[in-house]
Amino acid sequence: MDDSRINRTTARRIRVRGQVQGVGFRPFVWQLAQRMGVKGAVWNDAEGVQIFAVGVQLDAFETALQSQAPSLARIDAVETTVEKLGKLPFDFVITSSQGKGNQTGVTPDAATCDACLAEVRDPAQRRYGYAFASCTQCGPRFSILQGMPFDREMTSMARFAMCAACRSEYEAPQDRRFHAQPIACPDCGPRLWFEVDGTEISGDAIQLSAQRLKEGAILAIKGLGGFHLACDARNAAAIATLRLRKRRLTKAFALMGTLPVIRRHTDISPKEETLLTDPGAVIVLLDKSREPLPENLAPGLATLGWILPYTPLHHLLLDAVECPLVMTSGNSSGEPQAIGNPEAREKLRDIADAYLMHDRDIVQRLDDSVEGLTQHGRMVLRRGRGRVPATLPLPPGFEDAPQVVAYGGQIKSAFCLLKSGKALLSHHLGDLDDPQAWDRFQKDVTSYSRLFDHHPSVVACDLHPDLRTSQLAAAQAGDMPLVEVQHHHAHLAACLAENRWPLDAGPVAGIILDGLGLGADGTIWGGEVLVGDYLGFRRAAALAAAPLAGGDAAQREPWRNAVMRLDQAGLADLADTLFSDWPRDLLRQVATSGINAPLSSSAGRLFDAMAACLGLATDRQSYEGEAAMRLQALAQRAPDAFGTPYPFAYREGVLDPIPMFQSWAYDHSNGVPAEVGAARFHAGLAQAFAGAARTEVEAGRAKAVALSGGCFQNATLLDMVLRYLRDIPVLIHTRIPANDGGLALGQAVIAAAGTIRGG
Ligand code: ZN
Ligand code: ZN
Ligand code: FE
Repeated sequence: MDDSRINRTTARRIRVRGQVQGVGFRPFVWQLAQRMGVKGAVWNDAEGVQIFAVGVQLDAFETALQSQAPSLARIDAVETTVEKLGKLPFDFVITSSQGKGNQTGVTPDAATCDACLAEVRDPAQRRYGYAFASCTQCGPRFSILQGMPFDREMTSMARFAMCAACRSEYEAPQDRRFHAQPIACPDCGPRLWFEVDGTEISGDAIQLSAQRLKEGAILAIKGLGGFHLACDARNAAAIATLRLRKRRLTKAFALMGTLPVIRRHTDISPKEETLLTDPGAVIVLLDKSREPLPENLAPGLATLGWILPYTPLHHLLLDAVECPLVMTSGNSSGEPQAIGNPEAREKLRDIADAYLMHDRDIVQRLDDSVEGLTQHGRMVLRRGRGRVPATLPLPPGFEDAPQVVAYGGQIKSAFCLLKSGKALLSHHLGDLDDPQAWDRFQKDVTSYSRLFDHHPSVVACDLHPDLRTSQLAAAQAGDMPLVEVQHHHAHLAACLAENRWPLDAGPVAGIILDGLGLGADGTIWGGEVLVGDYLGFRRAAALAAAPLAGGDAAQREPWRNAVMRLDQAGLADLADTLFSDWPRDLLRQVATSGINAPLSSSAGRLFDAMAACLGLATDRQSYEGEAAMRLQALAQRAPDAFGTPYPFAYREGVLDPIPMFQSWAYDHSNGVPAEVGAARFHAGLAQAFAGAARTEVEAGRAKAVALSGGCFQNATLLDMVLRYLRDIPVLIHTRIPANDGGLALGQAVIAAAGTIRGG
């Protein structure tokens, strides 16, 4: 550099905020500086990355910092201050981290990058065939993390001492593995083996596994965030055996396959391919559109969940088996998946025929994430590995939000921590009715709080006092304010927060179509139009209530809801015909007595009622949402899914499905196919709620419409509601789940808003 061109404006201190540690950001800056003749230094600190830069093209340097950043980096802000230049630095250096940081967050686990995969497949490379190759662009992160900062000593890689070759890569700034904490090779890193009945079988673990899979065996495979159970996805008998042993009767299994294999079974759009190949490596729901696979993979559904291999172990295994594999979580139905080797041997003993094991410990138990694509963007069905622990920025107005912990719901549990203007929503933690899941939930609250140095001053939970999470919140709150949030208000606020709706932006009309939640009036809600914001709400409209006859049994058994709704519509005779095999009169007595028959406006139960009328999951749902998912799959088969909607009556804020059931009964008696009924039901529900929300917007009482609640994981319903609201601003979920997996975010921002406004 020509020293005469250096003056005081050519030295800058550049602060980079966001997900910039553990993603190869410093080597990237170093290489950029070499290319652009910039001198100075780069280092990590508690707030992210700092750069001291001296040079003549610093504007271009700053632009390139953002435009050319490594694929796993996510830059929230670049802030620059001009510095007085003392002595001109000779070169550009990477200096050691300053301060122990926890503001910068931890990177989610990332799928194997192309460069690592090429090494693993190249016989000339020292990592040829190695199942644990990774670099700064890929590999395990959160799943192996024990504490902050993200250094090797704080991960489960700590016990593997680096060999000389790995050490020199780790220390070379120009290397792809510079400061890659999970760096490993066959000489120094984790080891893979094949095991039967607790005994290691000698031979190539990948080849042995592939052979057993091809023979129809069920394998337990230790992955990134937990154990999977795997079998050949073309083998209906193996799938049936897996269902029997896992006690999972009908809930869909996810599949792992390479892109060519996936293309054989489904047509994928370019956008779906982009989502599949995202470093987060999520399960993507794709239509069953090409060569069919056994129906018992996902009975009655129109989609299959596919995931690409995302570790070298998976790539090597799929190369060897050359077929799609079932990859379902390694557990007995309802329990958390196993992560430890002894735990897996114990829990999966009666399920797995053999084990593909390794000796790198899984620290964070993370289920695979499940997502889909609609024409309106991404739809998150389950948020897990690859997506956490990423943070969401809070909306304008929440800059001074206190630290809040919110505990969420019960069946699709997740908690949320607010700190420094950001929300950290935990991964999916399962159904807390299971004692092991509950135990894990409490431990994860503690471990997240420790990792993120979180010290709440406000606690939030659901209004329902019987939820385990509500009881935990009450016990934890102590002297802190405890904010109990109405369930569907929390759904509304979650949607607002995700869309960064400002604190002072005014009310919206939230269409909340959901399962069950305790309402502000003591009845059970779940089909609502709530007008409000973070600070409060009013119930502008709701589905006409029906008894949940038998309480919890009404959640599991769709026929109960069908009988109640048909009776209300004056169609008791039809109910007697359709459900002649079920104890209708006993049910009616329960409903009349009012004991164990609370009234509910739940849209989820209305879906169940319609599904049972059409003969879907009539007797019992074997998993939550089964009836509704099958009803949606049926509706998609209708020749004109947007055909004439069934009518709902609307009177004084009550949306009544009586005319809907009467119209369906007329169709039914005239032999109209079931898929047409399913489609007209979806369209009718969408039209009724969209109409009620539109009224609020057109009267100036709401500025936009927000869609939330578990029913909005139904892409057909979402699509229809959006069509009816085409000319109105609508907020939808694209990054967090619309169901209770996103609930805690809503609780947290409501609690924060109340504190900010002094409520
Ligand atoms: Zn890599
Ligand atoms: Zn090594
Ligand atoms: Fe809910």
